[in-house]
Amino acid sequence: MTTDLPADLPHLRTPVEDARALIVAALRPLPVEAVALHDLAGRVVGEPVIAPHDLPRHANSSMDGFAVDASTPSPWALTAHILAGDDPAPLAPGTTAAIATGGVVPDGANAVIPLERVTEERDVITALAPVEPGACIRPVGADARQGDVVLDRGLRLSPLAASAVSGLGLTEIICVRRPRVVVLTTGDELVPPGQPLRRGQIHESNSILVAATLAAAGCEIVRTGSVADTAEATRAAFAAAIADADLVVSTGGVSVGPRDHVKPALRALGVHELFWRIATQPGQPVWCGTAPSGTLVTGLPGNPLSCLVGLHLLLIPAVRALTGASPEPETVRAELAQPIGQLPARLRAIPMRLTAGRLEPLGASLSHQLSRAAQANALALIPTGDGELPAGTIVDAVPLG
Ligand code: AMP
Ligand code: MG
Repeated sequence: MTTDLPADLPHLRTPVEDARALIVAALRPLPVEAVALHDLAGRVVGEPVIAPHDLPRHANSSMDGFAVDASTPSPWALTAHILAGDDPAPLAPGTTAAIATGGVVPDGANAVIPLERVTEERDVITALAPVEPGACIRPVGADARQGDVVLDRGLRLSPLAASAVSGLGLTEIICVRRPRVVVLTTGDELVPPGQPLRRGQIHESNSILVAATLAAAGCEIVRTGSVADTAEATRAAFAAAIADADLVVSTGGVSVGPRDHVKPALRALGVHELFWRIATQPGQPVWCGTAPSGTLVTGLPGNPLSCLVGLHLLLIPAVRALTGASPEPETVRAELAQPIGQLPARLRAIPMRLTAGRLEPLGASLSHQLSRAAQANALALIPTGDGELPAGTIVDAVPLG
């Protein structure tokens, strides 16, 4: 059950930045481990990645052309052919070598003249234009110098970053261990998809949202489980989850109704409360605490769009902090396509469709409207205030990925 608070009780809600700061202060960074090249994309760098040698290691050609000594005027006698991977002999004065892109520039040459800028007749090469020393040569170290930090601690490895590790010749690097997550859903009314609904039942949807969002944020989902709405089942499920996870995320059962067992269960398990309720709409009823083991335990609201807000404004930042990245959510600036009302004491976080810098509402302003929100790709953040923000107002939005 979720109950709304009277608007005049702002002290009962924690502003979302304060909630984030409490989470970050309570977290211990995870240990590091060696990770093989093919598993790197999506992982977080645990120790800086250093260039083991200069890149390029040898000066090489950036074009298909002819290696020459730019101080000797053409024509030059063509005496050699250099392919990428060859270890060429020095160039004799007055001669040239045909060279492929990536071919090592031979000693005695200081420029490459592209194929298109010469004429060739019976192994005599004539330049059509003057050649500058250094032209079309990739110098030693132009990409990285030996000892340079190529990837810094805390960076999440993109496929591009992983390929840069490969380019350094490394087969593994040190990464932060992935946060282990157990996802629990509460609610006796919930039925797995694929099963028929009796009157009053609904299909369960939060576990997919939570698990997929946190997996995409770099977590290892240890398991997802459903918990019956009894005190005993709730306590047992949380005890097992805390033992197996760095982060336990539950949905539903966190308010003050007769079937809401999450908070009493966590208190009984010695989980220390960090905050209860955040100043957002939707998404207000969030409980968050730390277990004696250090595991972060978060009870998100049951309503799907409320759950979404806690995930993006609190839990992705928590995951980032656990892995040593900056915990601030990544936001973009975008303009509202329609006017939208503010709330005096709560940040509104509304799923919208972001296209070409404009945020289009989807009619998903109530926290159960999951189908309406399904095409959202951003969470528009509407700052607190008394009025209505007109269309065209620039606001922050969190991309939903
Ligand atoms: P609760 O916070 O447990 O009172 O749940 C609030 C609302 O969210 C109720 O309408 C629940 O049926 C719904 N709800 C709770 N958990 C889920 C879930 N895992 N999937 C979809 N809806 C849920
Ligand atoms: Mg419930």
